[in-house]
Amino acid sequence: MEQRRYFEQLDAVDPLRNIRAQFDLHDDRIFFNGNSLGPPPLGTAKRLEEAMRRWRDDMNAGWWDHRWLQLPTLTGDRIGGIIGAAPGQVVVGESTSVNLFKLLCGAVELQSGSERSVILTDRDNFPSDLYIADGITRYVHRQATVRRVPVDEIIDQIDSDVAVVTLSHVDYRTAQLLPMRRINERAHEAGALVLWDLSHSAGVVPLELDAAGTDLAVGCGYKYLNGGPGAPGYMYVAHRLLPRFEQPITGWLGHTRPFDFTGDYQPDPGIARLTTGCPPLLSLLALDEGVTLTAQADPAAVRAKSVALSEEFIALAGARLARYGVEVTGPVDSAQRGSHVSLHSEAAEPLAKGLAARGFHLELRPPDLLRFGLAPLYIRHVDVFDCVAAMEQLLAEETADSAPRQ
Ligand SMILES: *Cc1c(COP(=O)(O)O)cnc(C)c1O
Repeated sequence: MEQRRYFEQLDAVDPLRNIRAQFDLHDDRIFFNGNSLGPPPLGTAKRLEEAMRRWRDDMNAGWWDHRWLQLPTLTGDRIGGIIGAAPGQVVVGESTSVNLFKLLCGAVELQSGSERSVILTDRDNFPSDLYIADGITRYVHRQATVRRVPVDEIIDQIDSDVAVVTLSHVDYRTAQLLPMRRINERAHEAGALVLWDLSHSAGVVPLELDAAGTDLAVGCGYKYLNGGPGAPGYMYVAHRLLPRFEQPITGWLGHTRPFDFTGDYQPDPGIARLTTGCPPLLSLLALDEGVTLTAQADPAAVRAKSVALSEEFIALAGARLARYGVEVTGPVDSAQRGSHVSLHSEAAEPLAKGLAARGFHLELRPPDLLRFGLAPLYIRHVDVFDCVAAMEQLLAEETADSAPRQ
């Protein structure tokens, strides 16, 4: 497996290669930052041009004729297909942070008849998720408190004080994948709800939200769903909770009859009650294109390739980079890992610079972490080989440069 040819052969029989052909990629650039921003699908520009034409020609009619106002729920259902949610439970909303705010407020509110007042979370959760939870205790539910614990202690910490547990399904740094079904079951036994952030799993890790008994989830549109910069995120509320579920930003489009323009708020009976105002239509069309492309991929093939790419990356890094002090961080067992790999290196900054100059786009987390998103829809096996080979060369050059001259 040390030979480039071996990886080329894997790519030649890759069942996802037809999907890769539908992305607008540069031959000389490799997108290892799909965990941050996926590349554009070929169809996106056409979709946006079409919308521009309708904006110019049809004026206001687009909102009605083209069902643009229904798009948050239509695209939501398409996302539901990717995350294992039956129709009517997913809607596109605002940014992931704002969506999390809405669902977390609603979850604490659902528990307001009980003594439960703790929001339990991983102390290393994505910072925005931590800030949002803190903000809710300061500005909305002042009786609530946030309990931050190490992720390995989450299950033991679910007690009778916990109203809601909120976690990232895949950790944004280490790629640790949490056992969703087990945590849901444990929380439900204790009477707590669980709110998942799917930002680093939807589109690359198989998800069965309904089957796992999930209560609530949010996720990001611009990472592995390929929705484009600033694409809105989405919210999932299980059917069984929806009739009682309230969210705090009660705007006109969440109303059951928005065009009656009445003075009293009555929430839509369905998932549209989570919406607030006009959707960001151009971004939403781009998201719909990304989601439609992502949904074409067979989830089993996506997972199989994601695991293969990660294992190849880890094996090659071990064989070729360990001697330069580069270490793989995060879980070694594929069953506990999402679809990115992080490397720890004292030379992380020069490595990131050298890789960028060679066309490998990835994320540097200063001072010493490099994150490689291994998005199976467009990353090839040979890209992994070439990237590790480039790192080996950069490290060898650096070592030669710093060695004492004879
Ligand atoms: C990327 C990401 C977000 C994004 O939040 P925005 O509000 O859409 O910027 C939220 N949570 C996690 C875990 C993320 O990785």
